[in-house]
Amino acid sequence: MIRPTTFADAGASFDDAEFVIVGVPFDRTTSFRPGARFGPDAIRQHSWNFESYDLETGIDLSEAAIHDLGNAEEFGSAEDMVRTVREEIGPIFAAGKVPIVFGGDHACSPPVVEAYPASAPSLGVLYLDAHMDFRDSYLGDRRSHACSSRRVLEKVGARNVVVLGVRSVSREEIEDNKSLGMSYVTAHEIARDGIQAAVQQALNMLKTERIYITLDIDAIDPAYAGATGTPEPFGLTPRDVKYIIGQAAPRLAGFDIMEVSPIYDTGNTSALAARLAREAIVRSLAARRAR
Ligand code: MN
Ligand code: MN
Repeated sequence: MIRPTTFADAGASFDDAEFVIVGVPFDRTTSFRPGARFGPDAIRQHSWNFESYDLETGIDLSEAAIHDLGNAEEFGSAEDMVRTVREEIGPIFAAGKVPIVFGGDHACSPPVVEAYPASAPSLGVLYLDAHMDFRDSYLGDRRSHACSSRRVLEKVGARNVVVLGVRSVSREEIEDNKSLGMSYVTAHEIARDGIQAAVQQALNMLKTERIYITLDIDAIDPAYAGATGTPEPFGLTPRDVKYIIGQAAPRLAGFDIMEVSPIYDTGNTSALAARLAREAIVRSLAARRAR
């Protein structure tokens, strides 16, 4: 029996799976409007909307080895969430599988990256976000979603993080970034110069063998993905993000989608998130088959 809250086509056992879905229903660090804790199940539900066959790659997702581990248990503090997520994700990376993680607010991403084993091939991070998320601490919390790129940088190093789509930042974040040196391409630069140039620049900067993509859904314009905690105009298009995923797929180590808040959704944002997760799987499989 397939439960309706399982990700579509996730029929493989954990042992056989190449891709493992994990939900993290945590939104305690949201700063404007909450609800991202309901993201994982909304994305799963919308995954059933799509054909399993992918027109562009010819891959049928019903033949892909996907396992849905369900949602991580409920949490108290952000520190609890961090510990739990590391424990859940560590064995997935260690087994050479690709975690696909649904949040949850963006505080849920750093512990995924932190779970990446030191012995595994080198890891870079493509950080897709309207916001810089570069505060050392926010409202006294170093695990706030406003600090997530900073925590990721502390794990993988400044040279191994590139932020794409940023258009909202504090003066302090820009000043800090000048000294710490995390690369970014703004949404305005992407609109001006095209997504191809931005992705080429980002992938050239990331010298690592593998790439983890973290997608804060607010990287995408609120016209397409308005169901999120802190919507920010002048964003990327869904096609921009689709292109980023396709280009990074040959090196994909893991993927997450955070900050989908379905209580503001007519369905578009959850559908887009589910479709992008499926895109990451088919593009990753297509790249493996081409090898
Ligand atoms: Mn974020
Ligand atoms: Mn954001």
